[in-house]
Amino acid sequence: MSNVPVIVWFRRDLRIADQAALAAAVESTSPVIPVFVLDDDEAGAWKAGGAHRWWLHHSLGSLASGLRRAGSGLVLRRGNSAATVLALAREVGASAIHTGIMPEPWEKTADDAVATALKDGTCTFHRHPTALMHDPDAITTQAGKPFSVFTPFANAFGRAVHPSPPAPAPKHLPKASLPKSDALADWKLLPTIGWDSEFSGRWNPGEAGAADVLARFVAEAAEHYDIGRNEVAKEGSSSLSPHLHWGEVSPWQVWAALEKAKPGAGVTAFRRELIWREFTSHVLWHHPTLPDEPLRPEFQSFPWRQDAAGLRAWQKGMTGVPIVDAGMRQLWSIGWMHNRVRMITASFLIKHLLVSWAEGEAWFWDTLVDGDLANNSVNWQWVAGCGADPSPFFRIFNPVLQGKKFDPAGDYVRRWVPELASLDTRYIHDPWAAPRSALESAGITIGQTYPAPLIDLDEGRARALAVLRKATGRAAA
Ligand code: FAD
Repeated sequence: MSNVPVIVWFRRDLRIADQAALAAAVESTSPVIPVFVLDDDEAGAWKAGGAHRWWLHHSLGSLASGLRRAGSGLVLRRGNSAATVLALAREVGASAIHTGIMPEPWEKTADDAVATALKDGTCTFHRHPTALMHDPDAITTQAGKPFSVFTPFANAFGRAVHPSPPAPAPKHLPKASLPKSDALADWKLLPTIGWDSEFSGRWNPGEAGAADVLARFVAEAAEHYDIGRNEVAKEGSSSLSPHLHWGEVSPWQVWAALEKAKPGAGVTAFRRELIWREFTSHVLWHHPTLPDEPLRPEFQSFPWRQDAAGLRAWQKGMTGVPIVDAGMRQLWSIGWMHNRVRMITASFLIKHLLVSWAEGEAWFWDTLVDGDLANNSVNWQWVAGCGADPSPFFRIFNPVLQGKKFDPAGDYVRRWVPELASLDTRYIHDPWAAPRSALESAGITIGQTYPAPLIDLDEGRARALAVLRKATGRAAA
């Protein structure tokens, strides 16, 4: 046992169990100094948005409590992450820094800076797989290239990656005298205006909250996930996304927990989504400009419309298209939206309104508690048809038909668009088509109590196809 401390630099892996960086530090038997660095500059436009910061505040509080229970604590520092970690290493005379591998481009830049600064070997730098199940450099196509299509990636993942049994949390951390820390409250991560009032009823950030959500899903929903995931009014999906994003649970912990669920189509479909999560990080790892640029060059100069009023109506859930408005209001209220509705709202913005996917990506980033650079940018480009393995641009969701199919009783719309709550189910997804008597008895006046649709859906679809044909020379099927 050495008296020279080692640093564990936490990033989006805010947990104690199955945390390879922490486990390696504990194994060294040296005193362990856990640190988290808030770096608002390096990520530029992609710095943590409002909903992220709410989550991060609570998640850091939870991690600090867990570390205290294990006889340690969490040191908080603010500034350029590489410079701050290097300064801390000098301050405490650390012999090693252990951290997780992250796919975000600024995290890779920070790692390169730390590795270069520590070249003399006085302090060693170790990077561990804490966020992903695969190593993005280790899985390649037969030609040795990164994957850009999901199915072959999933097949290669299945061949190359073997389930790794999750490690338990260390009971005690080797004692270290911890250097000074910022106070979490001084970081002012919580909003000053109270738009987050519904968040705390819906979410419990931190490792214990993640474990509860996982246990509920495995016991109640995993078996029927293949069907339940599309029933937008029900809790048929796991709601694990913010916990996975912040690393309060590891993907291997989730994978292993599924062993307790009844095997079948539900569990298989769910594991496939976990592999989608790997795929998006793989794509971002190899295409760091993805959040800002379309992967497909023919979309570089696509003639997106500038429509500030339309964008604002979409953001506020006031487009006049009920399933779109319900989704956008769910997002604003609880920082999360059902996957099916993410696809519908994104398709409406990109295709019916012809507003750039980048505008939607930025709004989601600011408002989602699970806003994840890889998942967000790959999925927005997927809907737009300009990214990796995309849905073709000419596949345009009809929001009315989508609503009728995935919210047949209209419960989701009624929950999030209360001004339509009393409307007959036959018209809940297209109130503009309802007879006057149905509107009157539900107390609705289109254009007054609920907006008229921003655009005629057929006209919007025809316009999108025409613009696509002209801009990319592609025939619409
Ligand atoms: P479940 O259905 O229970 O899935 C389990 C986990 O698998 C999720 O928690 C997530 O980690 C992963 N996953 C599921 N679907 C996808 C997918 N399509 N791509 C990658 N991983 C997936 N997900 C985010 O985590 N962050 C984002 O910023 C994000 N932005 C999105 C933007 C758009 C336009 C769209 C269409 C999808 C986006 N998604 C994003 C993917 C997906 O909608 C969410 O992961 C999912 O809705 C989260 O709910 P859940 O945890 O109940 O998912």
